[in-house]
Amino acid sequence: MPQKPQIIESKGIEYTLTRKRVKNINMRIAPDGTVSVSAPRLCPVERISHFVSDKADWIEKSRARYAEKALETAMPCRFTHDEAMQIFTEISDIYYPLFAGLLGFEKPVIKVRLMKTRWGSCIPSKRQITFNQRLAEKPRAAIEYVVLHEYAHFAQCNHSPAFWGVVAAYMPDYKQRERLLK
Ligand SMILES: [Zn+2]
Repeated sequence: MPQKPQIIESKGIEYTLTRKRVKNINMRIAPDGTVSVSAPRLCPVERISHFVSDKADWIEKSRARYAEKALETAMPCRFTHDEAMQIFTEISDIYYPLFAGLLGFEKPVIKVRLMKTRWGSCIPSKRQITFNQRLAEKPRAAIEYVVLHEYAHFAQCNHSPAFWGVVAAYMPDYKQRERLLK
């Protein structure tokens, strides 16, 4: 007879424990983030809890991945990947000449993906800029700001006063534009 699952908490992680005729402790995470564990009938709860809390990092990462997926499906972007790419490429081409020297006269690689917390990111060493697909839904002035912001990272790969100096030099009204992103 299978026993009723128990809900147990270990170091802030709640999990459902089911005792089964199994050899090892097994854990899985559902898309809603809940953790289920099956364990041999005679395995001490402390050992199972230790097994779970040992994997706290992995649980955290899996939950974050599921949350991101859920967000993508819950709020579809008004623009397709290709439409967004077209918008960002067009604006990028306008700002490219200002930074061409820094880039060795090669245009950056533009990538588009749905991101949870950022509008854009830049990897200067790879000459690569990634834009959040959802940025395409924002006003043009705001998109221009993000494009310039990412380009400015080719001059300064940080958010130092020197970085903001570069942004302000090319876009004196960047603060107003940034507000349009909220
Ligand atoms: Zn930045």
